[in-house]
Amino acid sequence: MPDSNVKEVLERFPNTWIDRDNFAMFEGFLEKRMLINRCQDCQKYFQPPWPSCPNCWSENVEPTEVSGNGVVHTFVILHTGALVGVEGVDYMKGYPLLVVELEEQEGLRVTGPMVNCANEDIRIGMPVRLNWIERQGHPVPAFQPA
Ligand SMILES: [Zn+2]
Repeated sequence: MPDSNVKEVLERFPNTWIDRDNFAMFEGFLEKRMLINRCQDCQKYFQPPWPSCPNCWSENVEPTEVSGNGVVHTFVILHTGALVGVEGVDYMKGYPLLVVELEEQEGLRVTGPMVNCANEDIRIGMPVRLNWIERQGHPVPAFQPA
């Protein structure tokens, strides 16, 4: 990873824990690409981005772009959250946070907010696709109905 990218990622995500293991994921966010570590030996994706494969213990893992297509595995409507307000988040209206199972692999799940959908219309099993939103000066992965 070039030093210039390290500097940019750290500057664009000032309140986020960035380390060697998750750096590529956040670097991908800046390009609106969802990168998930994939084992090059057994081909399994896994999340969060550990440096070795939890399936076969190989350290031959590569951040790999996924489609962002999936289905709602479960969700919560948050009515309370961080004491410090977050731009674009209104807990009074209820903030919809999803766990999405990605189409790439059974059990491969990521979290993100739902956009372009009324809270009361969200259903477990509904197809969704990736839709990047901008927050605090950087892209954040979100989902919307497919
Ligand atoms: Zn593996």
